[in-house]
Amino acid sequence: MLLKGVSLPRARVVTLNAALGPLDYRVPDGMVVAPGSVVIAPLGPRQLIGVVWEAERLPSEEIGDNRLRPLAGLVDVLPIAAPLRRLAEWTADYYLSPLAAVLRMILPSSSALATPRQLIEYRPTNTVPPRLTPQREQAITRLVGRQGTIRELADIADVSDTVLRGLVTVGALEAIAVEADRPLPTPDPDFAPPDLSPEQHAAAHTLATATGFDPILLDGVTGSGKTEVYFEAIAACLRAGKQALVLLPEIALTEPFLTRFTTRFGCEPAAWHSGLRSSQRRRTWRGIASGEAAVTVGARSALFLPYRNLGLIIVDEAHEPSFKQEEGVQYHARDVAVMRARFEDIPVILSTATPAIETRHMVDIGRYREVALPSRFAGATLPSNAAIDLTQDPPMRGRWLAPTLVAEMQANLDAGEQSLLFLNRRGFAPLTLCRHCGHRFQCPNCTAWMVEHRLMRRLACHHCGHVEPPPRACPECGEEDSLVACGPGVERIADEVAALFPDARTAIVTSDTIWSPAKAAEFVRAMDAHEIDVVVGTQLVTKGYHFPNLTLVGVVDADLGLQGGDLRAAERSFQQISQVAGRAGRGDKPGRVFVQTHDPSAPVIAALVAGDAPGFIAAETAARREAAMPPFGRLAAIVISSEDSAEAEATARRIARAAPTVDGMAVFGPAPAPLAMLRGRHRQRILVHAARILDVQDVIRDWLGAVEWSAKVRVAVDVDPYSFL
Ligand code: ADP
Ligand code: ZN
Repeated sequence: MLLKGVSLPRARVVTLNAALGPLDYRVPDGMVVAPGSVVIAPLGPRQLIGVVWEAERLPSEEIGDNRLRPLAGLVDVLPIAAPLRRLAEWTADYYLSPLAAVLRMILPSSSALATPRQLIEYRPTNTVPPRLTPQREQAITRLVGRQGTIRELADIADVSDTVLRGLVTVGALEAIAVEADRPLPTPDPDFAPPDLSPEQHAAAHTLATATGFDPILLDGVTGSGKTEVYFEAIAACLRAGKQALVLLPEIALTEPFLTRFTTRFGCEPAAWHSGLRSSQRRRTWRGIASGEAAVTVGARSALFLPYRNLGLIIVDEAHEPSFKQEEGVQYHARDVAVMRARFEDIPVILSTATPAIETRHMVDIGRYREVALPSRFAGATLPSNAAIDLTQDPPMRGRWLAPTLVAEMQANLDAGEQSLLFLNRRGFAPLTLCRHCGHRFQCPNCTAWMVEHRLMRRLACHHCGHVEPPPRACPECGEEDSLVACGPGVERIADEVAALFPDARTAIVTSDTIWSPAKAAEFVRAMDAHEIDVVVGTQLVTKGYHFPNLTLVGVVDADLGLQGGDLRAAERSFQQISQVAGRAGRGDKPGRVFVQTHDPSAPVIAALVAGDAPGFIAAETAARREAAMPPFGRLAAIVISSEDSAEAEATARRIARAAPTVDGMAVFGPAPAPLAMLRGRHRQRILVHAARILDVQDVIRDWLGAVEWSAKVRVAVDVDPYSFL
């Protein structure tokens, strides 16, 4: 047994290179390493970053002492603590991934590991440059009160680096040296506590007094004040001198969250997401590792960072499917958050108005506690829901909005209130075809239609990003001006709104228009200032936003999400429509929700209109139990892909033939994936369905371990899959 701080003569090191197993090194004289130490390990001519691991937990072939190379260095950061090492092992085991791939999420920033350094930033002086070009003027106007690197300022000002360098030369911007690791601000738990309602107070008290491993579902209707309530748990965590982590499903939600957090705690929390620049990444990572970052808000990747003293995890909008990572280590951040809380022995709060069946089940079997907020804050009422039967009340030809919805929108505009139309389809039309020969535009790399984006004048593939200009003539038959758009996307709905209400100010909100926290902040500002009357948006607008003057929600096509029929299609539709409906009437004016459908009697629609969430969940849970589907059984998908379709098919067949016969496990396939080609790779799927009690990972590990395939074939295992494409 090794004691912390006791020097080892030799060390087993997991490097960040996923292709390598653990490697043994000699610890040179004078270097002190312990499990968790971050070290520099030589390999051939290279130097790899790695983490020292308990040798007894990681079998490796024994190498004689005399053949060991010495470690090249010890990185000056705190060792990765034992609970996080256990989480890394668990994640690698559960999701059948290399430990190195998980370590890369713990140590994602090589700059964070470098020695501290100074950084040059720039800020405006009061000098007006002699030659004031429009670009220079724009830069000067937008940079008032700002400071940052040239790159950061260029982004804010939306001008090129060259323009800013010009401004430095003429003295309109000045350089200042800053410490890259200047301290992060400290949130004050007593800065501006809210007056909680008695119901909120009781909930906040339960959350704030939780200790040890304690998973809690915070189940509150939309607008009940879940954020205000879990802020009190954060305040308690701060008072105890510990760090808190808040996971959000979308980086677009970060900006409104930062504002609310600042109002409550007096300064911004540390933010962690893919949009950070390397200097910010380094500063935040080091603040997290030193314990100085008291509260971190981030996307799922923030989950694996080495918090020195973590006291609380919150998963906001915990039902969101985007917590599932679909590439690399295919983990579900909600589930890993609970595991991290378990290893750290701390509470974890899953906050949502529409809990996933899996989460609800954990409450039912007594594994999670539930704290409920059944009513909206300040007497705001939940919106009234009605279905519009499109077979009885059809839109005009070539239109998508039923007369009833149009009349409601008119009334809302007249009343000076805001409306939201929800359609989960980006672009103008999901399919373009030639009216003359019927040719359909398909992505050259994927089994997917090209989607017309009229605003950008492009056809785009939503799977691989391939874009092309819309051709004037059909490439198949050569007929000119023969292309027709089929079906609606948000841009087409926005056109319809413009035709119906020429004076209404419309905004389209999708990942094409809101692609950064700054864009999201601008959208929120424009809504609050009532510069927008009608929002047309995808699932991006269904989450988190709070617009008091938004009183009407129209769901353009409630049947859309039910197509394809994967395991969670009904549940997801229910959550999505409940969430978008939850944007209506959050202030003192009541909200109305209209759901357009061809089948008002479908269970999802009927439950939504009746406001019968418990009934829907009970029926859905019963169906899952009946079919032994998650959470009552397990699924894992094996996706085999190659640029060569015959090779993908042959490998998939070989893998399927090698499947072991195990009681309680069934193997389906291989079959071409619904997305049979993706980014130029042909894909085959095998689906494994297993009983709850079976260690399906162990079975799959042995099974795949005994099969070989060519280097051009990729085999990815997706444990607890959310995508069935
Ligand atoms: P949820 O996350 O449950 O949808 P929010 O936390 O966003 O609800 O709260 C809805 C709105 O009500 C927000 O604007 C929030 O600031 C406000 N609110 C909730 N509780 C209080 C309170 N106790 N005092 C003041 N404002 C509150
Ligand atoms: Zn494509």
